[in-house]
Order: sequence, then structure tokens, then C-alpha cells
Amino acid sequence: MEVEKGEKMFITVGFKICFDEKEKIVEFYSPGEQNRGEKKIEMKRCSRCLLPETYPNIRYNGDGVCNYCLSYTPIEYKGEEKLEELLGFYRDRGAKYDYDCVVGVSGGRDSTFTLYELVEAYDMRVLAYNYDNGFVSEQAKLDLKKLTDTLGVDLVTNLRLSPMYRVKKAEQ
Ligand SMILES: [Zn+2]
Repeated sequence: MEVEKGEKMFITVGFKICFDEKEKIVEFYSPGEQNRGEKKIEMKRCSRCLLPETYPNIRYNGDGVCNYCLSYTPIEYKGEEKLEELLGFYRDRGAKYDYDCVVGVSGGRDSTFTLYELVEAYDMRVLAYNYDNGFVSEQAKLDLKKLTDTLGVDLVTNLRLSPMYRVKKAEQ
């Protein structure tokens, strides 16, 4: 991917946005539409996992394999006993606070299950934390509210609109 001098570039997963000196957007590419706009780019991808070159801090070796594939080590499962020990530590430590731990929640199934298990199966006093970059759907917000209400968990939402959200809004 070529970036001309003087351009500022914002990259996140699959997206690329270029700004000129006056913060005007000169390029905007999103997944599936890499060739939109004046310039065309060829998106390089990892030969093993297909992560694109727009992925943060990605590098490729001579075979086109990315640094994430090369540094991957399988997860070592330590078992239920170790988990209980860890949660017990934070339960004891959290006794003088309102919460034992914070769980990041998106409204998706992974974080929903994590929150549910910690509250229902492990009796943790959890504060749910949600980050809203402007792209969180109304349905996801409703699901989050329903989830935290049902579990009796406090929910904090941090609303910070991403540059991409502002671009999308400006285009509408
Ligand atoms: Zn890879």
C-alpha cells in the first residue's frame, strides 16, 4: 500500500482512511470496496490466516506469513480449579469495593456468555463496561440493557465516535 507524503492515514481492521493537511478525507476504503475512490490499492494478505495489511502492526515474512501467525502459541488450559482460585482472589480483594471485576461487553454472544457465567455460575459482582464507537446497533444496545437488567448488573457505556463513524455520517 502506498501513502503519499503529507497524508495522514488512519487504519483499522480492514479499513483505510487518508486525510490531507486540512483534515479533509482524500481516501476511504472499507472491506469489500478497496478500490473505491481515485486511487486503487492492492491489499496484501497473510498467506496463512488472510489478515490484511491494514491490520494494526502487521508484518509479513518472506513467505507472506504474518507476525501474528508466527507468534501464535496455543492456549494452555489450566482448568476449573485454577479459575476458581483466580476468581476467589478477586472476590476477596473486591470485598471492600462495589464490584469484584469489570467485564467488557459488546452485546455479542462471547461477552454475553462471559458476563452470564461470571455472575450466575461464579457469583462475581461484575461491572459491565461497553464501548460504543458509534457503530453499535440499536438492537445490540437493547440486548445489552436487557442482559444487564436481567442479571442485576450495572452497565457503563463509554461513547466515543470513531473517525470512521464521522465519515459514514458525513456521507449520508
Ligand atoms: Zn497470519
